[in-house]
Amino acid sequence: MGLRLRMGKREGVARGETFDVVIVGAGPAGLSAAMYSARFLLKTLVVSQDVGGQLNLTNLVEDYPGLGRISASDLVARFKSHAEEFKAKVLTGVRVSDIRREDGIFRITGSQGFDVKAKAVIIAVGSERRKLRVPGEEEFQGRGVSYCSICDGPLFKGRKSVAVVGGGDSALEGALLLSGYVGKVYLIHRRDKFRAKPYYVEQVRARSNIELVLNSVVERIEGSETVERVIVRNKITGERIPLSVDGIFIEIGFEPMREWFEKLGLEVDERGYIKVDEWMRTNIEGIFAAGDCTSAWIGFRQVVTAAAMGAVAAYSAYNYLSEKGLYQPKVELLTR
Ligand code: NAP
Repeated sequence: MGLRLRMGKREGVARGETFDVVIVGAGPAGLSAAMYSARFLLKTLVVSQDVGGQLNLTNLVEDYPGLGRISASDLVARFKSHAEEFKAKVLTGVRVSDIRREDGIFRITGSQGFDVKAKAVIIAVGSERRKLRVPGEEEFQGRGVSYCSICDGPLFKGRKSVAVVGGGDSALEGALLLSGYVGKVYLIHRRDKFRAKPYYVEQVRARSNIELVLNSVVERIEGSETVERVIVRNKITGERIPLSVDGIFIEIGFEPMREWFEKLGLEVDERGYIKVDEWMRTNIEGIFAAGDCTSAWIGFRQVVTAAAMGAVAAYSAYNYLSEKGLYQPKVELLTR
């Protein structure tokens, strides 16, 4: 009874409906967890703002075992349809705000009137883009300040110059992509060594319209209607130089949603990632976590590691429900 949320074209989720497992987040970790959970015959719902997580910020995936070279969007579609094939429901357009235990069951609420119950929860919300926190950044967001070269790069086609900030894979991949759209790319990095894979570093160094601005930090972003220049300070000489640019792409990594995790009562590590054990259990019994939001395997964030964590979290949720006697297999779920 009550509000039925729209889910794709065909399915819906009823307000107050009870699931065995609700997975928050639909990146590789969440969708892999969903596929495994549904294969354990658990009534499974994935709820998320969008589908794909950080895969939406990349072009090609070349290192997912068995698939060779695949476009990121194709891989996302495969993850989703694989989970749905085993009857997991995937609901998008919802931001989950609260998860609380009420009478031994979790109540999960969020935007669009989302309000369901779950016997176990898997959190797979990934992480958020890190901000530079300099003057002009917030003011010009969407007016020349972007956090995703792959998403917004094409909008700058034919422009004179842009800046990219960062020294990791995202920044270098972004700089390479943008160098095909604009006249000149300034790649601004706070050190003189790149964290990115040598494969990207080599290509960037060979690209004639990418200028490296090393040992340097952006101090402020300026403009009128849109971004016109960035003020960059060399950390060694102290010299400040203005660079004329039409846009700035800030690709300096990701941060966990520490405040939200703490509000939910989840224990986090010193960086703010959800603490998990090797079975992806959090400090709250019945809540598991997987993927980039966790303290596991930091420094090696890959699609395959996220998917692996999702699989383990689903297995742990299944064991938890079985041990607690909360698991009643619904064999009809698998009839195809
Ligand atoms: P990252 O690897 O964490 O690199 C962030 C970069 O930004 C670092 O170079 C860091 O500098 C710099 N940085 C951090 N905070 C800064 C600040 N406040 N001011 C200025 N610079 C700052 O992040 P990422 O490049 O977004 O990559 C995230 C993960 O996704 C990585 O595991 C990466 O391998 C993966 N990824 C893979 C691909 C691919 O394989 N195609 C593409 C994109 C991303 P320092 O080096 O000095 O710390």
